[in-house]
Amino acid sequence: MAPPAPWPPSYGAARGWFRQALPAALPAWQGARLEARPLVADTSLTVDWAVAAPSQTPARLLVLITGLHGIEGVVGTFVLRLFVEEYLPRLDPASTGLLLVHALNPWGMHHRRKVNAGNVDLNRNFLPPAEPYDPEFNGDYELLRDFLGPRRPLEAPPLSAARFLLCLARAMGRHGAPVIQRAALRGQYGDPQGMYFGGAGLAEESRLLIELLQSVVPAFASATLLDIHSGFGPARQMSLVHSTREPRPVDELRRRFGYPHVLKSDDRDFYAMRGDMIDSLYGRAGKDWPGTRFYASAFEFGTLGHSTLALARSLRAMVHENQAHHHGARTRSAMRWARREFEALYVPRHPEWWRAARESARRAFDGILGAEGFLSP
Ligand SMILES: [Zn+2]
Repeated sequence: MAPPAPWPPSYGAARGWFRQALPAALPAWQGARLEARPLVADTSLTVDWAVAAPSQTPARLLVLITGLHGIEGVVGTFVLRLFVEEYLPRLDPASTGLLLVHALNPWGMHHRRKVNAGNVDLNRNFLPPAEPYDPEFNGDYELLRDFLGPRRPLEAPPLSAARFLLCLARAMGRHGAPVIQRAALRGQYGDPQGMYFGGAGLAEESRLLIELLQSVVPAFASATLLDIHSGFGPARQMSLVHSTREPRPVDELRRRFGYPHVLKSDDRDFYAMRGDMIDSLYGRAGKDWPGTRFYASAFEFGTLGHSTLALARSLRAMVHENQAHHHGARTRSAMRWARREFEALYVPRHPEWWRAARESARRAFDGILGAEGFLSP
């Protein structure tokens, strides 16, 4: 059984587990393969995946993705391990295919950042082939650039905390909360050192994922893709976040999966964005995989919470981590504080949080894998 404490402690340990555990977990799938691709940015870091084809009919494919947002791969690997230990043995190798991706963004997971080595947020990077990475997109970000992407070293607390609060209050007074949220979260393509930078072209990690999916998905009658994240939503609650392109309404999905916390990404509670991976795959599914019924959802594990205060703290953690990474910090304690707050946002330490995460993941796996026909009744 997966341990309740923060696990694994590092990217290296997580990859070690994956490479050791997967071959042993897939004996029922003849010809299952474990593969890895080194990153151009650092060849010691690899995206690893296991791919397995069914022995008879390619009825359904399960795709599980972890670590798209680097540091969130810690929670991702925890959930992947739960799946491998508790659910994989229950799947039918005659009709089920698998694509299990360990650390889509290994640089981010290794360096405990959300972005890749080029500061690209991969969930703002998946633009459709014809769409430009337009530096003018998201004018609100430009308006708030000094607040969201300060270009100076981070001061030590409490000065840095007071300055953030002051800037936040000023921005609230001038623009209001919805503009700040939009500016921060929608994605931007004009500030390569800023938050939620979507890049200037398709990143190598994004290209690899598309390549993998193109080679596997079309053979199947249906494909279910689950992408694991942490840091968003009410504390100790996992939300299933869907693309607005998922045709079924949230009430229907809630009933079908027997899971209470179901959202779509344009909800008041979530946020609209550009370049989202799941959105782009829904777009691709209709065109490139017309014979495959495609369903995708993100598991979003809440950490600090969703109150106004918690949202302000989350935003502060992101701004400060990015500022300290690009411009340094005036003192070591300022750097440590920025790191600690960022870790708290994505990798909680409390064992109770991990127990709740495991329960939510089980409930969602039971619901989704059951409804999509992966588990025999
Ligand atoms: Zn994420």
